[in-house]
Amino acid sequence: MKIPWMVLLFCSLTDLSFAYDIQSLSNFDQSSIAVLVGEQIKTAPFSGVGLRFEGALKTDRKLIRRFSGKIKCLKSKVNFGTLLFSGPIAISTKTAIRFNNNSYPGRLLIYPGAEGCDVVNEVKVETYLEMLVHTEMNVSWPLEAIKAQVIVAKSYLAYKTLNSRKYKRHFDLRATTSDQVYEGNQPKSKRVNLAVKSLENQFLVSEQNGKLQVVQSFYHSSCGGRTEKPWNVWGFDSSNAFAGITGDIYCPYCKVSPKFTWNYPLKLSETKDAIIPALKKDPFVKSFFRRIVKSKLIGIEPIAAPNSYRIQKVNLIFKDTKGEFRVAIRSVALRNWVGPDKIRSTRFQIKHEKDGQIILVGTGSGHGVGLCQWGAKSMAEIGFKADQILEYYYPESKIIKL
Ligand SMILES: [Zn+2]
Repeated sequence: MKIPWMVLLFCSLTDLSFAYDIQSLSNFDQSSIAVLVGEQIKTAPFSGVGLRFEGALKTDRKLIRRFSGKIKCLKSKVNFGTLLFSGPIAISTKTAIRFNNNSYPGRLLIYPGAEGCDVVNEVKVETYLEMLVHTEMNVSWPLEAIKAQVIVAKSYLAYKTLNSRKYKRHFDLRATTSDQVYEGNQPKSKRVNLAVKSLENQFLVSEQNGKLQVVQSFYHSSCGGRTEKPWNVWGFDSSNAFAGITGDIYCPYCKVSPKFTWNYPLKLSETKDAIIPALKKDPFVKSFFRRIVKSKLIGIEPIAAPNSYRIQKVNLIFKDTKGEFRVAIRSVALRNWVGPDKIRSTRFQIKHEKDGQIILVGTGSGHGVGLCQWGAKSMAEIGFKADQILEYYYPESKIIKL
């Protein structure tokens, strides 16, 4: 299972301050969404049969019996072998299109740009949700856990989609851990199909200023014993973006997770290499960035944070000829740049070994906000229903059927 740590540093500031009328979602399940499956692609494998190309120009309307090769995106143009397109194009087929080693249902939209092509999969909401259970959970898990997953994935998707449409973006959300991991077509599963159908027009909502709002329902693999408040993870508070998410829920259920406890030996030289690109962009570090580049990273220490079971910031301890100095960074950034599969959560302790080696010893996997997926699995196994699972992790929200 992929680690859903979602938005983190990518959370757009435009997500912060708008509530949406829930009634605008009344036909959402029957609609299509635009998922960004390739971002600023320079070249990628692409194949399909009976491909229909449609662009704004008449000359961009073509039918190709078969294409198997690589697309190349250069200077705001996209090449399919000898075919060249200079504007956005939609590609459809009666079967599926293979792009970047995944097979996609629906249409692919290609937006050539100066930095490469953005590739967007236009797919029906229900199809997307069915496929998502394969990559974000496990189709063999108990049905009530799958239903809880479908509700949170759909509500998160709806929140993101309403937001992107408001700003007329060319995609609604990303197909990666920045949003939700989606890899296109998956083997059909009858029980997942029935679960998605049974939840038609149902969303997780909360009341905000007397209005119902769909919850941006974050979720994660395992919380490690207690869920986290979103503002502790993302570093800002927003009553709209985080409406309906309390955090700080005691969770005795995810101990069964195979990665409940973990440790990772952190090599300081590798950590410095990994974190340098982040520091380069940090305005607070700008004035002494050159000094950091020439210094040696000799240690990492946690900065105690009140009211949190996770480490929110760490001090990177550097040393050069002038002596030691410290640079504080958010632990989420450390996790992001070193690798979320290595530092599995920010609920860790730092142990210094005799030989200068640092070992991170942690519990849980993911950012810890919202639904704990392994907790949902355990709750479903002991008889809780999907609505009870969601009530437990989102006590300020409720499921409604439009
Ligand atoms: Zn948990």
